Amino acid sequence: MKVTILGCSGGIGGGRHTTALLVDDDILIDAGSGATKLSLEQLAAIDHVFITHTHLDHILALPLMLDSVGAMRDRPVTVYAIDSVIEILRQDIFNWRIWPDFTEVPEERPYLRYQAIEVYEPIRLGKRSITALPASHTVPAVGYQLDSGAASLVFSGDTGPNPALWDWLNHIENLRVVIVETAFPQDEHGIAEASKHLSPKLLAVELAQLKRSAEVYITHLKPGREQTIMEEIAQHASNDHQPRVLEEGRVFWL
Ligand SMILES: [Zn+2]
Ligand SMILES: [Zn+2]
Repeated sequence: MKVTILGCSGGIGGGRHTTALLVDDDILIDAGSGATKLSLEQLAAIDHVFITHTHLDHILALPLMLDSVGAMRDRPVTVYAIDSVIEILRQDIFNWRIWPDFTEVPEERPYLRYQAIEVYEPIRLGKRSITALPASHTVPAVGYQLDSGAASLVFSGDTGPNPALWDWLNHIENLRVVIVETAFPQDEHGIAEASKHLSPKLLAVELAQLKRSAEVYITHLKPGREQTIMEEIAQHASNDHQPRVLEEGRVFWL
């Protein structure tokens, strides 16, 4: 299983793109602006999109992508999300006011279908298995475990303190990579708490709960504050995990 980081910034500007991970060539985990880097042919090859939550930085490319390549495809794209997230997509995005409801059009062959998923219940796609994990954010949200059979990558999604996530990770025998958000530097700690994101000191408390060895990467850093956040993480995190910054274009082979 190949996982390519298309976007991992907390915002845009200067070549930054927001959250989107490409799994092999047919699965997207979130559809932030990172997905806009794909060619038409690559976009048309996406059959499955797993959404963590409905904040714009995680879904903005989805409506545009369906419209751009829907006619090039012979079947709908399946969007997987927990029920409450699907409900928001229906009501607030694909509602005929912001964008067409592509589960209804084109009538003969709609571009979109939803599949509701449950936290902790794996979805199997060939040999690959994708499992939603709990997240604690201001809107309904999940993270994901991507398991090739040989190794697992866990992506936290957007989350504040989340002990249930670490409980789950500590039971993953083949855990190799953990991608965890740290959206704000310490001087914006109050905003991190209010918006249910992590800051460096909160991350240290989270990582102290990880009892397995794994490569730890930091995502969703606020644009322009990346260096400060990573310096503060180095100060506060225990030496066990040595978190590294996640970079766009990075590829993980699992
Ligand atoms: Zn969010
Ligand atoms: Zn976000």
